[in-house]
Amino acid sequence: MRQLSAKPRLLVGQLWQESHSFNPLPTTAADFTVERGGALVAANRNAGSALGGILRAGEAAGVEWLPAIAARARPGGPVEEEVFAELLEAFLAVEAPDAVCLDLHGAMLSGKRADCEGDLLTALRAKLGPDVVIAAALDLHAQVTPAMVAAADILIAYKTNPHADMVETGAKAFALLQEVMDGRLRPLRSLARLPFLTRGNDETDGGPLAELQGEARALCDARAELRDISICNVNPFVDVPEAGQTVLVTTDGDATTAEEIAERLARRLWDLRDDFVQELPSMDLALTRVRDAPEQRPFVLGDQGDRVLAGAPGDATALARLLLRSFPELRVALPLYDPDAVRNCGAAGLGEEVTLTLGGGITPGQTALQVTGRVLRLGDGRFLHSGSYMTGVPVDLGATAVLQVGKLSLLLTTKAPFVQDPAAYESHGLRLSDLDAVVAKSGNHFKLAFAGQARPLVVDTPGLSRFRPSDFPFSRARPIHPLDPIDLSALPIQTFGGSV
Ligand SMILES: [Zn+2]
Repeated sequence: MRQLSAKPRLLVGQLWQESHSFNPLPTTAADFTVERGGALVAANRNAGSALGGILRAGEAAGVEWLPAIAARARPGGPVEEEVFAELLEAFLAVEAPDAVCLDLHGAMLSGKRADCEGDLLTALRAKLGPDVVIAAALDLHAQVTPAMVAAADILIAYKTNPHADMVETGAKAFALLQEVMDGRLRPLRSLARLPFLTRGNDETDGGPLAELQGEARALCDARAELRDISICNVNPFVDVPEAGQTVLVTTDGDATTAEEIAERLARRLWDLRDDFVQELPSMDLALTRVRDAPEQRPFVLGDQGDRVLAGAPGDATALARLLLRSFPELRVALPLYDPDAVRNCGAAGLGEEVTLTLGGGITPGQTALQVTGRVLRLGDGRFLHSGSYMTGVPVDLGATAVLQVGKLSLLLTTKAPFVQDPAAYESHGLRLSDLDAVVAKSGNHFKLAFAGQARPLVVDTPGLSRFRPSDFPFSRARPIHPLDPIDLSALPIQTFGGSV
């Protein structure tokens, strides 16, 4: 181990975008919110993210930051390769860190790459050599690859879905990094991979994952050498080779335990593979419930099929169409991606009536909606998450317009509507207390963000983020369950370690 300066200098950064292979819109530079230098630390120190957790733990420990870049975009199509190349460059430009601690999503693709985070970690390892400790926090929906585990000494993922432990995961990544730097931990990592995609029922407070995560927690509590077990349920819309579920076990120098636990939990996860299915109410059933249960309002409806939080475009019109046609009495606010419509509302001006054709141009099977409404508000689409998911993290929806069509308030956006927090509405003058329901472009995390403010109800809407693998033209991820027969008599487990 090399001699450290009195105050260790840590390369810190964040790369957060979850890619959807079948969203035809690439993620561009304009989709990213970026901070560098001192601004990175100032903007994220109090954020409810893994980066916030890393920064607060590191400052308590008295480290000096070498900020690389924090770049966040809403989930969506693969990132343009030249955009990723620039981000990569920003991480590699930091000279001579004593260690590296990153907040990564773990399921980013570019136009050319199937494993952006693996490429980033591998490039950092190649540049910094074997002695610089590298740690990263990951999303529970990461596609964890052997390249990532080989290059990073510490890789740990959130344990909860919805993700309530982002800050804690960042703090733990930093704490384990510090132990490795101090020579108190020799991290051996065993990675087991399972070729299957979940089809729902994937929250961690119930269903198969509650049991599995509980078992992992109990094992870690009982055995001191077991430092972390991260069970990742890959975002089910990545079409890359060897996509699937992963179990990553980190021990203190104990390869036998790491392999044994990885194998045991992976076998259990495989046995549960057909429990990850979910029945959701139809749009008609859900809206009927909103209409017939006024005492339960306001509702927040999870738009399962067009979840921007799972990489869908946010332009699906089915729910808005049904509201206008069959539930015109309901006061509902609903986000819709349509940059042209925002420009047209702006050109018409506040308070003016406009007739527009909206949405439906990107999501297969969706058609545009013809409406006449009044422009209620024009905005810049910027706000901070106020709920307990991503608390304090800034969002930029691009220019926005609120178009009132009867009792339906359409929140039109020029960037995909990353809308799963009350602040998306409140910042546009749409108060929950005045509405029967609002729509979130999310299936799980919105429940955290709206807790205590609105009743969550996830709805089976059409679109690109339904959990139906057979709806998508998967080619690179094959063979994969449930699309193909899989023989798992030999479970692939790889063990990494000893680089420090
Ligand atoms: Zn996630």
